[in-house]
Amino acid sequence: MNAPLAHQHLLDSVTLPSAWRALAERCAQPALVTDTTRRITWANAAFSEVTGYSLEEALGRSPGELLQCEQTDPTTIQRVRDALNRGQSIRCQLLNRSRQGRLYWLDMDIHPFGLAGEAPRGFVALAMDMTAQHELQEREAAHARRLKALFDLSPLGLALFDMETKRPIECNAALSRINGFSRADILSGEAMRHVPDAHLPVREVWMASVRLGEPFGPLESVILHRDGHRVDVSMSGASTQEPGGRRMAWLMVQDISKRKTTERLLAESARRDTLTGLPNRNRLDDHLEHMLARTHAEAGWGFAVLLMDVDRFKVINESLGHDAGDSLLVSLAERLKQAVMVSARLVSGIDSLAAAEQEGWLIARFGGDEFAIVAPGLSTQLAAASFAEVVNGQLQPSHRISGLEIQTTVSIGIALAHAGTAAAVNLVRDADTAMYEAKRLGRRQYAFFDERMRSRISRALHIEEGLRHAHIRGQLRLVFQPIVDLETGLPTAAESLLRWTHPTLGQVPPDEFIAVAEETGQIVELGRWALFESCAAWTRMHREAPEVAPQRISVNLSRIQMDDGLRLLATVRAALTDTRMPPKALQLEITEREVMSDPDGARQLIDTLRRMGVRIAMDDFGTGSSSLACLREYAFDTVKIDKSFVKDLCRDAHVMAVAHATVSVIENLGMISVAEGVEDDGEVAALQGMGCRYGQGWRFGRPMDEAALLAMFKAAYQR
Ligand code: C2E
Ligand code: CA
Ligand code: CA
Repeated sequence: MNAPLAHQHLLDSVTLPSAWRALAERCAQPALVTDTTRRITWANAAFSEVTGYSLEEALGRSPGELLQCEQTDPTTIQRVRDALNRGQSIRCQLLNRSRQGRLYWLDMDIHPFGLAGEAPRGFVALAMDMTAQHELQEREAAHARRLKALFDLSPLGLALFDMETKRPIECNAALSRINGFSRADILSGEAMRHVPDAHLPVREVWMASVRLGEPFGPLESVILHRDGHRVDVSMSGASTQEPGGRRMAWLMVQDISKRKTTERLLAESARRDTLTGLPNRNRLDDHLEHMLARTHAEAGWGFAVLLMDVDRFKVINESLGHDAGDSLLVSLAERLKQAVMVSARLVSGIDSLAAAEQEGWLIARFGGDEFAIVAPGLSTQLAAASFAEVVNGQLQPSHRISGLEIQTTVSIGIALAHAGTAAAVNLVRDADTAMYEAKRLGRRQYAFFDERMRSRISRALHIEEGLRHAHIRGQLRLVFQPIVDLETGLPTAAESLLRWTHPTLGQVPPDEFIAVAEETGQIVELGRWALFESCAAWTRMHREAPEVAPQRISVNLSRIQMDDGLRLLATVRAALTDTRMPPKALQLEITEREVMSDPDGARQLIDTLRRMGVRIAMDDFGTGSSSLACLREYAFDTVKIDKSFVKDLCRDAHVMAVAHATVSVIENLGMISVAEGVEDDGEVAALQGMGCRYGQGWRFGRPMDEAALLAMFKAAYQR
């Protein structure tokens, strides 16, 4: 009871009213007093300041009439009226208009006053100018409205996650459009139940950024649409901390499926060959990586890579034109698809190409006239060989190209992928090596890669590289092997044979480097050199010892040289004139293979050469299949019976009989028979017995240099 006493003591009846008056008159808040009929009986300076009406103007008027503006909320006015009519206090916020027309907000605190127990004598109101707050609120509301509109209308899918529950607490319509889930499904977490594997790492990154409070993305990912299809999205995010410390994370999701589809189409077209529509090298490489990963992961699983090259495609392309060549490639692609269908059906019971591709089968155009097939599950040589047979079988029927029936074959190189295969590039390289080998074997062949093949091929590359310079560096030389009259035992002629000493490989046998030189076309240059050198050697020997020098020099011709008949004729003519060697002293050796590759061209060439006086020998006779027929058709001067025949002469009665018959045919056709590879006296006797005229072989002399040859001839005739 002390405090009120103290109050009373401090504020006596004089002090209190004057204190109130001072407060009421000077305070910054507008204040007014009305009578019971609500006419203003007093107002302070702050009131005049806000309303623009002086005390004199205000006195006797009702505040409503004075301040009201048409925008004032009528229900609020009604509420105020009701309270005042009942003589009650009321607090309200009113929008008013000043005398100058300015709108302002007043927070009014209105109370009735009077003596206790009596009717009120009037009302007192203390107001507060809320205009600034209202404007602020209004601005904030507008800002929020705009943000809300942005949120609702944004094409970007938006969700706000409460990181405590990891659940979204807000989401917009765009997100529903992107993932197909309703807002309710999204907020309940239903939409996030199924997440594609591809999205998991992205989610990890997002979570980590949220933990660190760092911005996230944009990262590309995939989400599942409600109907199950995958949607490509780009995601980014930001996290915020609520005043209470709660972490919130925004996730922004952009649908990028259109762009992705275009990108995929573009990427796909970059991975397809435009001519055949088959996947190209790029796609093949990716596919091989993929398959190899499976090989490493799945014990016992493997696959085969078949690389194939169209035999003689160049010839077809050049003779029939590029359009025909293109059509042929398209037709081949179709056949390969058939082959894959047939095999996929056999291996895994699949009956469409699409299903086979699903399994991992892939046909690619490797470039030019080369194709590749990836055959999943074919991990043994037997399985892969059977498939190669299927391919060959599908290619058997001829193709109809620009009105012509064209038959083609392919050479196939096969590499098998197994757990030990390190890289996809190795597979392609190995298959390529094997294909090279298959090509060497002839047409329509297939070959499996093995390690030895690689060293052989790398040697071939060495040889090829070395050959480019061989001529200049003087690494080539000719040796001569004597040809002996079997009856007299005297040497009469010699065959010139090429020798090459490679700087690092040493002596390279002609069988090896001539094959390479034929492939690169360098044989033309080598052959020309051998021809000039052989003729020059003949002339030199004849100048030195005209009586005893070899009557003839036999020079080997390659089929590549024969392909360009005119050039060959010119070379032969030039060699003969340059060295002044009589044409009849020159014999050119060609094999059946060379004749058969272009029978008509060969016939013409042989005829022309013989008319020039040059002799023609058929080399390696007996190694081909149509040898005898060939003999009758072409006019050869000499036939050289292959050493494989001679080798078995004394061992096999059958061979003896065939050789005998052969010699008879040759002699009966008026040609001269020469046996090659004669190594011992038994063979000499047998050959003499069957009437063979000449022999060549180690028994009489190994290939030797020019000086040794001449010395041998001198010795033979001076005896
Ligand atoms: P070819 O024309 O059949 O030459 C005969 C081959 O048999 C030579 O091998 C020779 O050394 C070998 N030889 C000779 N006598 C015997 C024998 O008693 N026993 C055995 N086992 N072999 C014997 P070379 O010199 O290695 O030549 C191999 C092939 O290279 C030649 O076979 C020929 O096709 C080709 N060649 C050599 N020089 C030339 C050339 O200048 N131009 C062309 N286009 N090819 C050539
Ligand atoms: Ca020969
Ligand atoms: Ca021969």
